[in-house]
Amino acid sequence: MFFADPLELDRALRQLRSIYGGVSDELRGWNWSNDVLSPPLEGVYLGVSEVANRYCPTYRDIYLRRVLGRPAPYTYKTVRGWIYHAISSKTVQEVKSTLYLKSLCSGAELFHELLGRRDEILESIFKKYAASRYLNEQEMEGLRREAEALYSFLTLQASARLDRILSEIRRPELESVLAKAVPMDVERLVNGRLLGLSQELRVDLFTERRIVVEIKTGDVRPFHKYVLAGYALAIESDLEIPIDYGIVSYLWSDGRFVKVRNITYFIGDELRREFLELRDEAFNVIHNGVDPRKPANCPSYCIYYDLCNR
Ligand code: SF4
Repeated sequence: MFFADPLELDRALRQLRSIYGGVSDELRGWNWSNDVLSPPLEGVYLGVSEVANRYCPTYRDIYLRRVLGRPAPYTYKTVRGWIYHAISSKTVQEVKSTLYLKSLCSGAELFHELLGRRDEILESIFKKYAASRYLNEQEMEGLRREAEALYSFLTLQASARLDRILSEIRRPELESVLAKAVPMDVERLVNGRLLGLSQELRVDLFTERRIVVEIKTGDVRPFHKYVLAGYALAIESDLEIPIDYGIVSYLWSDGRFVKVRNITYFIGDELRREFLELRDEAFNVIHNGVDPRKPANCPSYCIYYDLCNR
């Protein structure tokens, strides 16, 4: 995975394994029919981010969206999130398809090929998300610069990783090099219905080591880790494979430099229970249909801020 250094990741997983024990079987997603995991309401399916991104401590965001039917407005940050996510997954897809097409190539060739297609790829991403419909000219220009820097950064990381792998293998073969260079699926579709979650959940990255990766583009928030628990439970309920670790990968770009910060979590009992409490409270708000009112202080970064604080 070129978002994280493999050695750094190994160290983090080893540390977490030595600190935490295992996961209780009753909190594995495949036990979705027990009292703790089964959803309190039937026929309602929530997004993992909708449950986990607890900007609003009173759940008024859930009330606005699910009871009053008022979708969250699109802001600059929303559009930036779409673009960064799209670039991250497109880069992974492009690296894989280029290596297939060329039946292997050097890191320099890969970088040259992908950089040459940068403008065309970014243009198609901006078009797909109709970014110009939501942003003014100045915002578009700034976001384009950020997108270029992020794309160049990711393709360079992937190319350097490819060269490192090639330098270590005596007789490189396409499949084995690919498995090491890009050991992940992007936007893996997961059905979370058995847990009251959407049937079309999309996990940003899912690595061959059964690690879920969530990409974030804004500030670090304590509730981001709950997204990992939601996806882990959903994958366990859908595929019946254990998921113990997750990474929240924060990406920032100022148009020139890119910064990455990876925070690795053990998805243990506590995190799972906390996510399930958030889910159950969201269902309560929907079931009661009563405005939970605003908290004492609304965070200015809440997506509904303007709507609630007019
Ligand atoms: S603006 Fe305040 S009340 Fe409205 S959703 Fe956000 S935190 Fe909740």
